Amino acid sequence: MEAPRIDKNPGTYPSGTPITITTSEPDVAVYYTLDGSPPSLGSKRYRGLILLGPDTTRNGKMRLRAIAVGPDGCRSPIAEADFERATGISIRFRRPDSWSSSYIHYWETEPDGLSTQWPGQAMSPGPDGWDNLKLLGQTSANLVFNDAGGTQSEDLSVNTRDAWFLDGERWEVDPTRFSNFLFPGGVSKALVLSMDDGPVQDRRLVELLNRHGIRGTFHLNSGRLGEPGHISADEVASLYSGHEVSTHSVTHPYLDSLSREEIATEVGFDRTVLSQISGADVRGHAYPFGAHNATVIEVLRESGIAYARTAGQTRDFRLPADPFAWTPTCHHTGAGGLADTFFARPDNTLALFFIFGHSWELDAGEPTNSWAYMEALAQRLGGRDDIWNATAIEVADYVRAICSVQSSLAEDRLYNPSGIDLWLRCKQSVIQLSARGSAEGYFSHSAP
Ligand SMILES: [Zn+2]
Repeated sequence: MEAPRIDKNPGTYPSGTPITITTSEPDVAVYYTLDGSPPSLGSKRYRGLILLGPDTTRNGKMRLRAIAVGPDGCRSPIAEADFERATGISIRFRRPDSWSSSYIHYWETEPDGLSTQWPGQAMSPGPDGWDNLKLLGQTSANLVFNDAGGTQSEDLSVNTRDAWFLDGERWEVDPTRFSNFLFPGGVSKALVLSMDDGPVQDRRLVELLNRHGIRGTFHLNSGRLGEPGHISADEVASLYSGHEVSTHSVTHPYLDSLSREEIATEVGFDRTVLSQISGADVRGHAYPFGAHNATVIEVLRESGIAYARTAGQTRDFRLPADPFAWTPTCHHTGAGGLADTFFARPDNTLALFFIFGHSWELDAGEPTNSWAYMEALAQRLGGRDDIWNATAIEVADYVRAICSVQSSLAEDRLYNPSGIDLWLRCKQSVIQLSARGSAEGYFSHSAP
């Protein structure tokens, strides 16, 4: 009997590549192994295609060995092929206008050297305006872009499968995706107020925000509830009703100094307790002291957290490039000075005014850090019909939903697989792309 045939030549293929096994005779059964061991009647029986993926490979590799067994028990020789799952990072870089070409110089953060000589590798320009390069076999890299003429970017790092770099910032999705979308209600501006620690002053702040129709996100430490100066567990549900309750760890440690297990406990336990006492599914996080690293982010993702806020300040109104390194616009003391700039933003791009702070600070009674200051700020920002007043989780979910939208090749049909209704501009009008619905029109990014 002939050995079965494997339809692909040995080699490296993208994840999800189907591999099929065929035989020349009918009525034969095929048995196979993926780990290089000899196949026998006790091995897995082949019943369709085998997909090259994480569950069929070990360290990205698969040694497929198969035999055919006839009805009479006659066995074929073994067919064998080695496959490797192509992993790597797809880099896209939007070259500044003054650069005639772009090069990438990268150094790996993993063994198996992949270093390059300065100025590095030329990126290939794509028709979509992005320069591209695939770093095969890498899961993370440090890199710098340059024009081979002495101009270069900041040092950047990447640890996701796809990365877009625009104006020195890394995005997990193509940022031009946002160009036609609007926030709920068809507006281009959103406001998020994100306050930490659950001090007793939150009672006064929530009352103030409610009067001005502003909704906040409150990051609480479940281990501190009921301690002196902090609100108690039994008032969480009623006090923050209509606002978002979010995690801030149990005990407020520097998460980047803890073990994986400790991080998981600090975040997971906080999430469980806060979900129970607030009656809502808590999915947000603010890093205590803003401290985080790659391990912290990984554990947060595994814990079902959807976003995490840092304590930095961008002083602009961009959307989160990376939801786990979500840097706010400014501290509440700086918000008054930026409000007019925010109002004056053109409405052709989405703008998010993301303010963070602590209600206890307002007791300071300073010109930009007092209850009167917050009252005046809320009066200016609240109750406006050109601003979507959202919680952080609502913005995170909305941005994620935009990223999930699928477009036809001609960009004339969109499908929204998410459970959230989306708003967008189509020609001169504003339309809605309902949850799990589609829309027809012309949506090209370059369209006016
Ligand atoms: Zn804090």
